[in-house]
Amino acid sequence: MKKKPLIGIAGNILIMDGGKFPGMKRTYVNHDYVESIELCGGNAIIIPVKASHDELVRLLELLDGLVLSGGYDIAPDLYGEEPLPQQEFNYPEVDLFYIDLLKIARDLKKPVLGICKGMQAMNVAFGGSLFQDLKVQKEKAFKHSQDALRYQASHKVEIISKTFLSKCFPSEIRVNSFHHQAVKDVAPDFQVAAVALDGVVEAIEYTGDNFMVGVQWHPEMMASFGNKQMQTFFELFIKKCKPEEESK
Ligand code: MN
Repeated sequence: MKKKPLIGIAGNILIMDGGKFPGMKRTYVNHDYVESIELCGGNAIIIPVKASHDELVRLLELLDGLVLSGGYDIAPDLYGEEPLPQQEFNYPEVDLFYIDLLKIARDLKKPVLGICKGMQAMNVAFGGSLFQDLKVQKEKAFKHSQDALRYQASHKVEIISKTFLSKCFPSEIRVNSFHHQAVKDVAPDFQVAAVALDGVVEAIEYTGDNFMVGVQWHPEMMASFGNKQMQTFFELFIKKCKPEEESK
């Protein structure tokens, strides 16, 4: 049987705020990630939030690729800032888990796709910074927290030529948008791969010796609802994550 690339999805922690188990932590990812990966040629597995670096190395060695999912805000001290009043809930334990995974993936040369917070974590992990809140920090920013169904596109992005994204998409596409934070200073060794028409960075790519791409929108919410462009994007990412036996 031909092996499909095994793609780890970085998990998240959901703290129950009511019901029968208030305060209980649950490990989760939105099922759209699993569906998109499996629809587009991969096998998905969820990586729980954990602090042990050695265990994460061991897990990543087993995987062919990594997807970092969306989630809470990133704690601003991780990029050297004090919190603005607009900073929302953050969970540093999850941030450190993401950052550790990213550095391990880079060292082990495992392809990475960062989505929303996953892209922001990628930028922070390698030395970049974030706008803590677009509304107050970025003049004339469009609405990036859409009030529409999750698979509905709400703004345009321009794709920068000669990037991996330019092999996946035409020069202008429409995307969904569920973020109030965004990349501010792009990390060294990364390049901008897509921008919204208000100048907000919507995708970054690593220029070093590993395949790492981050997008600010949620392609998994669109791909799992049948969006062909976003399915192609997942397919091309998953093609980069060949199982070891096949790539030899
Ligand atoms: Mn956006």
